[in-house]
Amino acid sequence: MPLPIPAPVPSPAPVLPDRRLYVRERQDFAIENERLRQNQAIYWYGEYVMFILMWHIQDLEEGRITRCTECYGNGSTLNDRVTAAYNQPTQNKCPTCFGTTFEGGYKARIIRPAILTDSDKDDANQARGVTHSMSLDVETVSDFRLRSGDYMFRSNGDRFYLRTPTRTTLRTGFETPLQTTHSIHYNLARAGLEDRGTVSYLIPPSESSLAVILEEIERVPTNFTAYEEIKEALIPADDD
Ligand SMILES: [Zn+2]
Repeated sequence: MPLPIPAPVPSPAPVLPDRRLYVRERQDFAIENERLRQNQAIYWYGEYVMFILMWHIQDLEEGRITRCTECYGNGSTLNDRVTAAYNQPTQNKCPTCFGTTFEGGYKARIIRPAILTDSDKDDANQARGVTHSMSLDVETVSDFRLRSGDYMFRSNGDRFYLRTPTRTTLRTGFETPLQTTHSIHYNLARAGLEDRGTVSYLIPPSESSLAVILEEIERVPTNFTAYEEIKEALIPADDD
């Protein structure tokens, strides 16, 4: 015997928006003012540092870059087969890609003001010998996107490995906050000191020229564009 056709369920009445409420627009002037104050604070207490934004796997997947021709070959040698099998470069101190396996290594080299917390170097005995561990927190401006694996170079020659920072946005209206429209600063990227002799020390500029560049302090923000290199937008097009 066929089952009876169920009786239609009445749809619930739609809930209409409450017209007594109002949806606030983004207040651009408030964001602009807050950015200015945050950036001024960095110029009061900070210093110039160089950020090296590396190429990452997403850039390869989205077709912006190719694998390194120096250390990540096409499969014609034994080393290339090792590379393919383990998905790793055959030299970790590759002077072409700086250990990233992506041609050129970095997508941008920029100089920005930043505030660094104080920290002293500590000697630690590890399997690879004595290392000088040190980690500190960094606060900087938010006109670029940092990712884990990027580097920061300080004028004293120290080079740090960075982790993705927390972005602070100012919400002044009803909207999803984006970095380009809402962010006011980049807070507390945790930076770990790289040991001398590791691959980050191969990235130009040399220690001596870095000190000369970063100590060029004037009474207004210095124009460093002559020392910068930008191969790709500093904030990705799909800003989120
Ligand atoms: Zn390489």
